[in-house]
Amino acid sequence: MTVLVTGGAGYIGSHTVLALLDAGEPVVVVDNLSTGSPDALPRHVPLLVQDIGDEAMMAGIIRSYGVDVIIHLAGSVVVQDSVRDPLAYYRNNTVAAHGLLSAAVRCKVKHFVFSSTAAVYGNPAQLPVPETAATDPQSPYGASKLIVERMLQDVAAAHSMRYVILRYFNVAGADPDGRAGLSAANATHLIKIAVELATGQRSQMDIFGTDYPTPDGTCIRDFVHVSDLAQVHRIAVSHLARGGRSAILNCGYGRGYSVLEVLACVRKLSRKDFTIRHAERRPGDIVAMVADVRRIRSELGWVPQHDDLNAMIADALAWENKLVALRNLRKDSAASA
Ligand code: UDP
Repeated sequence: MTVLVTGGAGYIGSHTVLALLDAGEPVVVVDNLSTGSPDALPRHVPLLVQDIGDEAMMAGIIRSYGVDVIIHLAGSVVVQDSVRDPLAYYRNNTVAAHGLLSAAVRCKVKHFVFSSTAAVYGNPAQLPVPETAATDPQSPYGASKLIVERMLQDVAAAHSMRYVILRYFNVAGADPDGRAGLSAANATHLIKIAVELATGQRSQMDIFGTDYPTPDGTCIRDFVHVSDLAQVHRIAVSHLARGGRSAILNCGYGRGYSVLEVLACVRKLSRKDFTIRHAERRPGDIVAMVADVRRIRSELGWVPQHDDLNAMIADALAWENKLVALRNLRKDSAASA
């Protein structure tokens, strides 16, 4: 069974590729390297630098590699950017998925795993939020993903395809063995920014809002370790291969931490007492987001291995230290050349 991973050179993609390789699955990656890097992948993995929206090209790739299942992760992911440039998000996330799905239908691919987001819920009426909750995305990013969810469901019904739609909550951490992590520049995510601060790569950071209606006044998120999320993709592929039914599944741990709790944990583990500015609320932020995880546990039998904020932040810190060391090494060798 050959698995095509779009966006496989990115953060979640590279961890997913490792999980598949560790399980002995043949993998081919398509990535346009807009944010990903070839260094994120083991050298023997075929990497095709290509836009996934090009139907003819994707059909050629699916045929020549004998692809049986597609894990579709390629896309743009920064909520604030999507508000500034919605058309870029509808092009990269929605229109591109149309091209990929057309190629999948043309080549009779029967199994499809799609990376969606908790942003499709908007501000949930109940917590933890179940998959049956109303969808009401508050950003073009969330909307661009929700349209693909619908497109995939319609395509699956018309062409006897089965799918797993994964709604990610807040993904963080890095491969515990140091093989992969979040390398993209211009981070916007809380834990990445905090570990950059703790490793001396930035001089300050802001807490966006301390007057929310939560116990400590800061927003609450359900953080899931990227290696656990990678395993979810692998298990979803096996589920479909076994004849499992189509499903929409929340990917989180079902437990929330506040921004202040996360920062306290980064301080404790890094032993750096950095200062943080209290800033205005960031427009569009959801107050609290926690996954109802009963469905993913029962449908996939998923048992997380890294459900521990300390371990997640320790892995993120270790990866960040590795990036700093690599950068210093490159500087030193450039200076001595
Ligand atoms: N956040 C913050 N400072 C930062 C980055 C994020 O206070 O520099 C807060 C953000 O306002 C939100 C939470 O951390 O309440 C999670 O934000 P992130 O961008 O990591 O993920 P999101 O939930 O928005 O997808």
